[in-house]
Amino acid sequence: MSDDQLKPETRALRTGIHRSQFNEHSEALFLTSSFVFDSAAQAAARFSGEESGNIYSRFTNPTVTALEERLAAMEGAETCVATSTGMSAILACIMGLLSAGDHVVASQSLFGATVNLFNNILKKFNVQTTFVSATDLNAWEAAVQPNTKLFFLETPSNPLTEISDIAGLASIARKSGVWLAVDNCFCTPILQKPIELGADIVIHSATKYLDGQGRVLGGAVLGSRELMMEGGVFSFLRTAGPTLSAFNAWVILKGLETLKVRIDAHSRNALQMAQWLAAHPKIERVFYPGLQSHPQHALAMRQQSTGGGIVSFEVSGGREAAWRVIDNTRLVSITANLGDVKTTLTHPATTTHGRISQEARDVAGITDGLLRIAVGLEAVEDIQADLARGLS
Ligand SMILES: *Cc1c(COP(=O)(O)O)cnc(C)c1O
Repeated sequence: MSDDQLKPETRALRTGIHRSQFNEHSEALFLTSSFVFDSAAQAAARFSGEESGNIYSRFTNPTVTALEERLAAMEGAETCVATSTGMSAILACIMGLLSAGDHVVASQSLFGATVNLFNNILKKFNVQTTFVSATDLNAWEAAVQPNTKLFFLETPSNPLTEISDIAGLASIARKSGVWLAVDNCFCTPILQKPIELGADIVIHSATKYLDGQGRVLGGAVLGSRELMMEGGVFSFLRTAGPTLSAFNAWVILKGLETLKVRIDAHSRNALQMAQWLAAHPKIERVFYPGLQSHPQHALAMRQQSTGGGIVSFEVSGGREAAWRVIDNTRLVSITANLGDVKTTLTHPATTTHGRISQEARDVAGITDGLLRIAVGLEAVEDIQADLARGLS
């Protein structure tokens, strides 16, 4: 069987393996900042690029390379560049591929820090962004300007789980001569492979499901060799330095090994939670792509096969009622992280999306009664009982 027929869960275990002289079974952790050369001539050849090989861990490190190869194999990408966080993956993508004067069309339903990066930081360097509805393909096409270089989206979106049609947007992007970047954090390559659907770039916050146990920060940018290497993403990283540490890479490598079974279990539990919430009298709305009532259920099932692990819901009674649910829990974690085996519960309007303007929150549909639950691997009945206390 050739490597390109292997399923993602097999790739998660059997790719990116380069055993050292000791023939270790579990991947080695190369905790070293630099690498030694045999001679002055070899040092010179490595630095000039005449000879390939490691020099310094800001550039490359074997443990980081193993993770990059594994993640690329799982996403079906030619190349992966690992980064210190998900945010630095987005930054590296922009700094590598764009210049002052370029324009981005982005979903208006993005992770809060991503919105701030586009709105506050990139604007200072004259990279302008137009935000459009995640689901309205015509709006993306209409927002294209002569200097547009990039479409940027997350699907499902955080926290309202809107689904963007990746294949549809990829065809608009291709026609308009712009790159399409998809933040695949919520689905991971187990559920959704944006590159197969026509995206040029995949972004990951490895901090979430790829690690899966809430231990380390990490990120990745994936795409063609042309974009990542000649395009300047790797060169930005090597020069500016938001590199992934070898230790974090090793933790994430180990996390990938169980990604498939975790995602399947997260998806099963989240669907049960969503169904329970939808039937609860104190809940006004439930946002979960796996529910038939979700406006893009059919697209979601085609594109990502399950609803994933994140459920958002609106409690009647606004902020006070939403906070009551949080403050009456004894089991789930009150924290903004997601993608952890432990269930986490967040009030987006005052945490993850608290730093964007009220106006931007209104546009994104993030109301004061909204809660986001990243369903973990506890027994669903126990999570339900924990939420029920604050809903009675
Ligand atoms: C968390 C997150 C990020 C940022 O990742 P960090 O690792 O925290 O920097 C980006 N996009 C999405 C969708 C996220 O959930």
